[in-house]
This record gives sequence, C-alpha cells and structure tokens, in this order.
Amino acid sequence: MKFPIYLDYQATTPVDPRVLNEMMPFFNEQFGNAASKDHLYGSQAADAVEKARKKIAKCINARPEDIIFTSGATEANNIAILGLTAKHSDKGDHIITCVTEHKSVLDTCKYLESLGKRVTYVQVDRFGTVDLEMLENSICERTILISVMTANNEIGTIAPIKEIGEIARKYDILFHTDAAQAAGHIPLDVEEMKVDLMSISAHKMYGPKGIGALYVRHSNLKAKPSPIIFGGGHEQGIRSGTLNVPCIVGFAKAFEIAVKEMDNENKRYKKWTEFMWDVFQDEAKPVKLNGHPKNRLSHNLNVSFEKVESKALIRAVSPKLAISSGSACTTLNVEPSHVILALGYGSERAHTAIRLGLGRFNTNEEIEFAAEFIAQAVNRLRKIRI
Ligand code: PMP
Repeated sequence: MKFPIYLDYQATTPVDPRVLNEMMPFFNEQFGNAASKDHLYGSQAADAVEKARKKIAKCINARPEDIIFTSGATEANNIAILGLTAKHSDKGDHIITCVTEHKSVLDTCKYLESLGKRVTYVQVDRFGTVDLEMLENSICERTILISVMTANNEIGTIAPIKEIGEIARKYDILFHTDAAQAAGHIPLDVEEMKVDLMSISAHKMYGPKGIGALYVRHSNLKAKPSPIIFGGGHEQGIRSGTLNVPCIVGFAKAFEIAVKEMDNENKRYKKWTEFMWDVFQDEAKPVKLNGHPKNRLSHNLNVSFEKVESKALIRAVSPKLAISSGSACTTLNVEPSHVILALGYGSERAHTAIRLGLGRFNTNEEIEFAAEFIAQAVNRLRKIRI
C-alpha cells in the first residue's frame, strides 16, 4: 500500500492515465490555436475541440453547440449567475438558491446582494434535501433564476433536480444546476432534468484541473448569459479566451470513461462505504451519518464521531490517510461547515464532521485499512479527551 492513502476524491481526482495519454499530443505536436483555422495546426486543434464538445454533449444528452468551455465549475457558476442577472436586469432582480451550495454560488449571490439584488437561500431538511415547498413559495414576479446544485460536495446528497426543473418551467424561470460533483458519477440528462444551464468540472472525474463547461440551452433564448469576460468572442461570445485544447480533449475522454464505468464503480463504492459505516458502528460509536442515507453519491461518506474534533482526527490519521472535513479550514481558524450547520444538528456535529471521498484507484485493502485506522484513532482521541 502507498501512504498516505488518498480518500479525498471529492476535492479532486488524479488524471486517469487513459486521459493523460489522449491529451499528450496536444501539448507539443498538435499545439495549434483552435481559433486560427487558416492552417493545419489550427484546424487540427479546432477539430479536436469540436470532437470533444460532441462527446461531452452526448454524456448529458445535450446538443454540442450548447456546451461552452470554461476554466471549471467556479467560472461556469459565475457566468451563469452574473451573466443572467445582468441580461435580465430589466425583468427582475431576484434569485433563488440553496443554503448548502458551493461557495462559488453563495459568494456570487452575496456579491449580487451587495449590488442591490435580492437572493432567497432555501433551507434544507436534516438529510440536506432542499425544501421544495419553500422554494416554490419564494418565487415572485421579479424572480429570474433558480440555482440548486445536483449533488452536494460535502455530504453527497442528491437534489430532486427534475422536480425543481418542473417548478421552474411552471413559472417560466431559468434553472441552473451546479453538477460539478455529480457529473461522471450519476447519470445526467438535461432534458429529463429540465435544466437550462449546468456547470461541470473535469477534475472531479479523473480529468485535468482548470477545465470545465457550462451547458446553455440555447433553444431557450432567455438562457444565454451576457458575458462576464470580454475578448475575442470565443464560445459564442459567452466566454472569450484561447481554448485550452489539451485539457478539453482530456475532459471529453474523462467524461466518456466515467459514464461507461459509472455503474460498476458505483457498485464498488457502495460496498466500500457500507463496509466503512459498519466498522464505525461496531468499533467507534457514537457516530452519525451526515447527508441522505439513500439519495447520495455512492463515493461519499460524511460522518461525525461524537466528541472527536474533525481537525484532531484528520491530523491523527494524516501519516496514513489523506482525508478532509470538507469545510474551509485555516491553521488559525476552523470554520464549521455551512453545509453541516444547515442540517440543523448544531455546531458540535459540524465541528466533528469528516468527509471520506472514495475513488477509482482505491483498493479493498486500502478501504479495510482506512476504516480500522480511523476507528482506532477515534477511540484514542476519545480517551485523551477523558
Ligand atoms: N461546485 C462544486 C459543488 C464543487 O464541488 C466544486 C469544486 N470544489 C466547484 C463548484 C468548483 O469547481 P472548480 O474547481 O472546477 O472551479
């Protein structure tokens, strides 16, 4: 076994060797600028980009022209929220989102509030599922956008996206979803989900960092956001900037592999998370599961060990395991997770939450070792505390 065992696959994933292999020629052989199509180098790059666009579109049942490449999900979320607010400022000034969203959504909304826009942050229940009744009741004449993530990055809870899509359509409001954690892990179909915009990131699915996409339903004329980055008019004027061809090629390959292998991988992760949960129950009680027991990403296990601070546990296991709390920590200041706090169990639950993100390159041996090692560390820390 190689230590520390990596169990933070929701923070990022290594690039799959099959993906890296596909990317390599685009660094130094086919290095052209996809916007300089007057010669072979440029047209080769442009071809590679369009092939990748097609593959990615197929993975979410979209049209290729509705895929806009970005630097990742942070940028895609910013373009969707800022770009649509700017575009529809005459029609409205109200956005609906959810308290457990990623900071790239929440902080963008906070910024808009500082400019005088209004934002409703819909609550979640104890499992982290968005309150649909509150969401629908929040809609008003001035609402222009609903933005709710497909799956949560800390607790893995999967949102009722189709139902939200139906509500959005009923009131003729645009619907954006941040699918950074869901893409490549659960099936996504923009038609079934009834989404108008969707953010995706490659580095959560064994692709490279710094590349992602915003799906934009162009057939709905209202869905095209105004640009927030100006320049050469790339990506249909939505996102200017020279395209990152090797990463785009890698993103497409990673998504293709992920979709193909999804069922088998999810079976394996489910078995592993159940195994770990059983070990924790047997050897390190009291322990609580954070997130939905069924509607969850199968590679996520977020647990709170009573009376064991997550920071202390993460430090105790760090020579052997790479795990995180999923919350924003600095050495000086540990901020409890806004996601766990939103579940309504109080701050002790948030201060004791750890996130285990399992992935493609873990082995049975690693998972067995990790479960035991965590349980032992929990017991040791509890004894020190007493
Ligand atoms: N949204 C969610 C739910 C995420 O988990 C992440 C990555 N932590 C992001 C957005 C940001 O994605 P990126 O790293 O591609 O900017």
